[in-house]
Amino acid sequence: SELPADPILENSRRQVSEACFSYVTPKHTAKPELIHVSPELLETLGISEAESQSEEFLKVFTGNQVLEDTRPYAMCYGGHQFGNWAGQLGDGRAINLTEIEYKNQRWALQLKGAGPTPYSRTADGLAVLRSSVREYLCSEAMFHLGVPTTRALSLAVTGDQVLRDVMYNGNPEYEEGAVVCRVAPSFLRFGSFELLASREDAKTLKTLTDYTIKHFYPELGAPSKATYLAFFKEVSERTLKMIVDWQRVGFVHGVMNTDNLSILGLTIDYGPYGWLEGFDYGWTPNTTDRQHKRYRYGNQPNIGLWNLYQLANVLYPLIEDVDALQAILDAYKSNFETQSLQMMRSKLGLFEAEESDLKLIQDFEDALQMLETDMTIAFRTLSKFEKGNLSNGLKLIEDAFYNPDAMTSEIEEVWKAWFDRYSDRLQKEALSDAERASKMNGVNPKYVLRNYMSQLAIDDAEQGDYALVDELFNLLKNPYDEQPDSEKWFAKRPEWARNKVGCSM
Ligand code: AMP
Ligand code: MG
Ligand code: MG
Repeated sequence: SELPADPILENSRRQVSEACFSYVTPKHTAKPELIHVSPELLETLGISEAESQSEEFLKVFTGNQVLEDTRPYAMCYGGHQFGNWAGQLGDGRAINLTEIEYKNQRWALQLKGAGPTPYSRTADGLAVLRSSVREYLCSEAMFHLGVPTTRALSLAVTGDQVLRDVMYNGNPEYEEGAVVCRVAPSFLRFGSFELLASREDAKTLKTLTDYTIKHFYPELGAPSKATYLAFFKEVSERTLKMIVDWQRVGFVHGVMNTDNLSILGLTIDYGPYGWLEGFDYGWTPNTTDRQHKRYRYGNQPNIGLWNLYQLANVLYPLIEDVDALQAILDAYKSNFETQSLQMMRSKLGLFEAEESDLKLIQDFEDALQMLETDMTIAFRTLSKFEKGNLSNGLKLIEDAFYNPDAMTSEIEEVWKAWFDRYSDRLQKEALSDAERASKMNGVNPKYVLRNYMSQLAIDDAEQGDYALVDELFNLLKNPYDEQPDSEKWFAKRPEWARNKVGCSM
């Protein structure tokens, strides 16, 4: 590698300076067993189905065998957690096995939960089945939704028991250990750059930035102030695009700390993430963030910008032009307005642009929050609205209410008035109702990984039954298609699952 490595060759916990990674050895596990492998990703990586069923595949992707001529390593990064600088953080439970090139694309293969690294601090470097099922299913689902993301190649149980206290009730329990193999062109984060800057290690920071541009942004050219600025602009634009996609599908990341923001604009680190059920700008899946709700749905675009400010500060010494950096940050704001409006227009089936659209969209969003209204169902069924048929509109939206009995005459009036305006607005569109519906269905998913769906898959998996993991995995490969045999997954969250969210531990 062209990046400086930590000279100490062991997994013991320590502060690592003037290095971007440390060589480590993955932990051997008691009784590894593969639960699932992604056929799409096998193909992307050029691994055959037969190879994926070999003993070697099982051993390699659970940390029990190191491939010849490879040297596993853990990456070094820090980050701002909930707005505060937290120093060196990771990678405490991720180990890169190697990097491969296939069809002109570079891929890093990373095991999550394969044991401690120099960066594990006070934790064990392990992952449990519960959080691993969530990461595995969600990252592939996001990919098929068209949202930039890290991928997942395999999900395995280790046969080891892992101690966890998820309920914070003082009763830790043993859970089944698991390992996910994550895949991305690179797992570098904002925090990888921040840690070097915080240590005033300008030399390594430049090495890392040059490396990142050379391998992942080669079109930007040779190192220069202008190239570094273009790099920041590109990271900023990719981050924005990713977040606009999150808003479109109702994904809430939950821990947008700078160590969880990819330098490639990929969704990374599927921890306590969640999917909106009722449309609610104030919702967060993160139970440790319930007071300030820093990472709530409606705040994700702002936090993206906050994180980019941290990166701008880090890159400043390489660029030395405050105004140019500020202009990029300002553009994030105005681009967000434009792209978000465009995205919301498409969700409502508006493919022409009218001055009044912003107000129509805002009023729709406000109306959605009067009563608990399922986001996925509301947007998906909106495509069935027929111009001029107000009662059809009311019926569609009522179907998305969690408690239709809570509908008052005032709320009904608000909705009637809104559908009246929407109907008028649709008259200005060139498309027929049917053409509009088909375009809308390409941006409003029918199937997302609702929190209760992962929970059901986890409950079965903990009993050794992985059929539902497979069923959901396959369902979510075609999230925009009608799948008549899977209509049961196009349903509101059942009442038992209210406020049930996952946890990353
Ligand atoms: P997160 O908020 O999930 O991104 O976690 C922050 C950092 O904590 C990660 O980058 C890891 O380095 C570390 N971490 C989380 N869980 C564990 C664990 N079980 N063992 C070791 N390190 C962990
Ligand atoms: Mg993380
Ligand atoms: Mg995490």
